Amino acid sequence: MRQKNALIPTLRNVGEAEMVSHRLLLRGGFIRQLAAGVYTFLPLGFRVLHKVEKIVREEMDRIGAQELLLPVLHPAELWHESGRWENYGPELFKINDRHDRSFAMGPTHEEVITDLLRGEINSYKKLPMALYQIQTKFRDEKRPRSGLLRGREFVMKDAYSFHADRESLDQTYEDMFGAYMNIFTRVGLDFRAVEADAGAIGGKGTHEFMALSDAGEDTIAICEACDYAANIEMAEVVGNEEVSDKTPVSEREKIATPGKRTIEEVAEYLDVEPHQLVKSLLFTVDGEPVLVLVRGDHEVNDVKVKNLLEGAVCELADEETVRRIAGASSGFVGPVGLKEPVKILADHAVMRMNEMITGANEADAHLMHVQIGRDFQVDLAGDLRNIQEGDACPRCGGTIQFKRGIEVGHVFKLGTRYSEAMNARFLDENGKEQPFIMGCYGIGVSRTVAAAIEQHHDENGIIWPVAIAPYTVHLIAVNMKNEDQARLAEALYEELNKEGIEVLFDDRKERAGVKFKDADLLGIPVRITVGAKAGEGLVEIKLRRSGESKELSVEEVLKELP
Ligand code: ATP
Ligand code: MG
Ligand code: MG
Ligand code: MG
Repeated sequence: MRQKNALIPTLRNVGEAEMVSHRLLLRGGFIRQLAAGVYTFLPLGFRVLHKVEKIVREEMDRIGAQELLLPVLHPAELWHESGRWENYGPELFKINDRHDRSFAMGPTHEEVITDLLRGEINSYKKLPMALYQIQTKFRDEKRPRSGLLRGREFVMKDAYSFHADRESLDQTYEDMFGAYMNIFTRVGLDFRAVEADAGAIGGKGTHEFMALSDAGEDTIAICEACDYAANIEMAEVVGNEEVSDKTPVSEREKIATPGKRTIEEVAEYLDVEPHQLVKSLLFTVDGEPVLVLVRGDHEVNDVKVKNLLEGAVCELADEETVRRIAGASSGFVGPVGLKEPVKILADHAVMRMNEMITGANEADAHLMHVQIGRDFQVDLAGDLRNIQEGDACPRCGGTIQFKRGIEVGHVFKLGTRYSEAMNARFLDENGKEQPFIMGCYGIGVSRTVAAAIEQHHDENGIIWPVAIAPYTVHLIAVNMKNEDQARLAEALYEELNKEGIEVLFDDRKERAGVKFKDADLLGIPVRITVGAKAGEGLVEIKLRRSGESKELSVEEVLKELP
């Protein structure tokens, strides 16, 4: 590509953007903002996005997932079936058509894919099946201020798997896990797969892939000695909330003081509905509920979860049942006795809302219409709240460190939460109807682009990992008016293209200083400069990452390229 004709509108200044990746993407002419959380991918940004997509596709295809493309517009009826029309929360974009029929703009596609499969697959013989798409998602995020890290319109890879039994789900989950490891490694991220909602979920049913970065919103506990890593967002809510100088003092105190909050207080503070906090609530025996939360995840939004906070009647389980379910990898731990506080240790506190809300709990162990805090209190705090830096790793005894992470991927065993709610069934080997057992697997494709920049940049600009760089080579002719330089640069440009090397050719009639500054900003891995020694057939090759440079003949240059 010739830069003279390219749409690469670099900027020196970009005003308010706070995140490094946001600033550099704007400055480098990779993206432009159209509205809050809504961005245009300019040609360079689009190339990077494509590179990430390509890696994702290759790894999905490798494990046998099939690509399809689901609609963005979802009839409201489907979301009513799952219960999420009312309960997904304010992030759901809703629109009406000319006939006044309601639609959601897809923030995620469990409903749509479940609807598809219940129509198309009716036998175990077709299972397991994994399907994926790469598509623009819509979420009306509350704070869409971090560029591609949190868009209201963003690109996601979402995959869904369907199974006849749990073992099959476990297998696909493992395959997906492996694919995610490959993807983020290939992209060039320093990342950890962490147990999402450590403790509360038992660490078996869901993992998040976290790109390590101080810009991350989550805090994760990692062990340097083994691969233990857990999201402690829930244990550290209070400490995690950003406290800036701009936060009013009263608010700051409220956030900074660890301790008890009522559900309502916290919900109000975060501007979410109380039921959205349920997933990670920790309750205490002595008095008010203590909160620990994960915000607004789709699996917590459900009518019954809401009821949990609002209703009145409780069905009981005996202690043995509770322990049995708590010890299993899934299930919901209910109270042992109404109005009698019960203590359950954190590692037994398996609290899978998605399981619970299917109503598929063990017959004697589910609870409905309970008001937490009023009807019962549970102390799950124990282990969780005490995780501190320097602690012994629960797995190997090594040392725990706290790091910040950006959630770039999330894998989740859904179980029958959607298939039950939407009556999606197949015939098993005995001709008996069974609900599909499902998994879902997301990757923030556009967020991954930003996460890569958060990890790979310096004061002069981006340093793209080779695998996702918009071009491999940035060819710069210092002075296009100089005949030797122009001729050699043109010849080299042609040669590189012929070799199939992706090259951006700075053939602009700009000053050398401007060209070099732009080159550093754009962050293309290899810079080849055609300058004063063009007459002797010599050029300079320089690596963006190390700054290492040397003078080579044109013939030698080609051999040096990655
Ligand atoms: P977060 O906790 O950051 O809000 P999430 O848990 O709501 O993310 P998921 O529902 O798990 O997101 O979606 C799958 C993936 O999509 C996430 O792991 C993340 O990488 C990406 N993602 C989610 N929301 C956004 C967003 N607003 N902008 C960009 N990427 C996003
Ligand atoms: Mg999340
Ligand atoms: Mg979210
Ligand atoms: Mg998530």
